[in-house]
Amino acid sequence: MSLGRVIRLFVVLTPAILLVTSAIWFVSRSATPAKHDVDTTSEVGTGTGKLVVVVAFDQMRGDYLSRWASEFGPGGFERMKTEGIWYSNAHLPYACSSTAPGHASIATGAQPSVHGIIENRWYDRGKGKVVYAASSEETYDRVPPSEGVAKKWPGIAPTRLLAPTVGDSLREATNGKGRTVSLSMKDRSAVLMGGKEPVGCYCFDSSEGEFHTSSFYRSRLPDWVDRFNRDAVYRWAGRSWDRLKPLEIYDRLAGPDNMNGEAKNPGGLPSIFPHALPKADDKTANYLTAIEASPFGNELLWEFAKTAIDSEKLGDRGASDLLLVSFSPNDIVGHAYGPDSHEVMDITLRSDAIIAEMIAHLERTLGKDRFVLIVTADHGICPLPEMAIRTHPDAKRISLGDNVNGLDAALDAAYGLPGGVAGRWVEGPIRDTHPWVYLNRRTIESIGVPYENVESYARNWLEGRANVLAAFSRTQIEKGDFSSDLAKQFGPMVRLAYHPDRCGDLYILTPPYIQVSGALSTGTDHGTPHEYDRHVPILIYGAGVMKRGTREDAVSSLIVAPLIAEALGVPAPAMATEKAPEGVLVAK
Ligand SMILES: [Zn+2]
Repeated sequence: MSLGRVIRLFVVLTPAILLVTSAIWFVSRSATPAKHDVDTTSEVGTGTGKLVVVVAFDQMRGDYLSRWASEFGPGGFERMKTEGIWYSNAHLPYACSSTAPGHASIATGAQPSVHGIIENRWYDRGKGKVVYAASSEETYDRVPPSEGVAKKWPGIAPTRLLAPTVGDSLREATNGKGRTVSLSMKDRSAVLMGGKEPVGCYCFDSSEGEFHTSSFYRSRLPDWVDRFNRDAVYRWAGRSWDRLKPLEIYDRLAGPDNMNGEAKNPGGLPSIFPHALPKADDKTANYLTAIEASPFGNELLWEFAKTAIDSEKLGDRGASDLLLVSFSPNDIVGHAYGPDSHEVMDITLRSDAIIAEMIAHLERTLGKDRFVLIVTADHGICPLPEMAIRTHPDAKRISLGDNVNGLDAALDAAYGLPGGVAGRWVEGPIRDTHPWVYLNRRTIESIGVPYENVESYARNWLEGRANVLAAFSRTQIEKGDFSSDLAKQFGPMVRLAYHPDRCGDLYILTPPYIQVSGALSTGTDHGTPHEYDRHVPILIYGAGVMKRGTREDAVSSLIVAPLIAEALGVPAPAMATEKAPEGVLVAK
């Protein structure tokens, strides 16, 4: 067999092998999740052990760390850059730069084609409905129960995740001694990073204002979480978010404060500084939504993380522990104001201050030689089109319908439809399935035309739309048939984002700097394979980490999970794609 043939065979078989392996893993892990209701907070610290802290900033583009470097303090990002390692040229290798795939990839080291989290939500053909990445088909209750949110609570659990996380690897390698805690404001971030059996997985909801978990993990909250919910949540009420530094620095290093195209802040904060948070008892504005849409939400989560470290004695029980923290307000602020805003610059400076505080806290409580800190992000962000147009004349806002309206009619015209029932060629709501289009297999079968013909017709039709750069078909993706220059550039990334059971039949690639959210919409988004969405920071600092400074070589973001595993001293997660780069940690 020629080498070429072996490679082709491998390429054909790999998805099948991965599917079987992930199915076996999934069944074996999801039967009865272990509960961690035993309160471990009375354990006495041993003065030994290690803590690996992984920080994911939700939406932090890789270039922020150079763009605003002159304004960072000495103790945060700059300290990590100079006394540890900074990968300044790290990119997601897959096309779907969204929150759920991002957090699943950080923790599993696998790409969406393997871990199965292809988007925040996707269309389940078998069930004929849209499913959420962090919810389950089983019923799980909110813990603590809450009448107010019960009706819309999605029943969070990591059961759709098809690959083990680094926390699962830690648990297995240490027989449960090494423990994982995963925290975020957003449920999907905490759930997908935490894996199957974290001792704690907590997220926040802005309707009740409390950190909570799911009965998948435990049946009651530990006392420390209860106490924190009672004492800490409203501490920022009435506080004003103003710039950390003088206005002229923001004018020089970011765009204008009041920019066309900025969205209304979802927390109701005004479009320019200062942003005053509502008072706790303000009946006309919601403090809880506002704190999530401001850097004070990060301060709240950091307070919560500190309480978790102290209460669970993380890194102080003679074993290595893992704490994963995802800061969501950066994303909410970034979507509303865009990456060139004073707000995003300011929340990034404040994120730097939190990292400095985190390092100082860990040094003080555990000691310099007992922690490793890894900082990364789930994705970047596109500039507001109103800003991007200054350098990219094609930047604009389009509606979703601009790309796909008319596809049903075109297929009707090409193949006819029994009974003249129009609009049945595409299934699933395109608003939720974009950039994927799911062809209706029943319609195709009833017509008796080969699937490949319909798929290929639809692909050509989509490629003829004014705002479609390229379209990829299922057959083309599975075969790796990427011959044009565009297909060569983007096809492999789409392939890593493709899971045969979960993705649609056609992938629509829009040109860069185009917002697909309506001509009159505001704000900005991520989710594409364009560079600005895939560029993320990776910083590693702490015990045993070599002082190697800035690394400009191009690396995949999938090195993060193997790096976490190496810092913990356990094997990389079983389905991780990359190996940890050589020479990051001192050999033990
Ligand atoms: Zn995100």
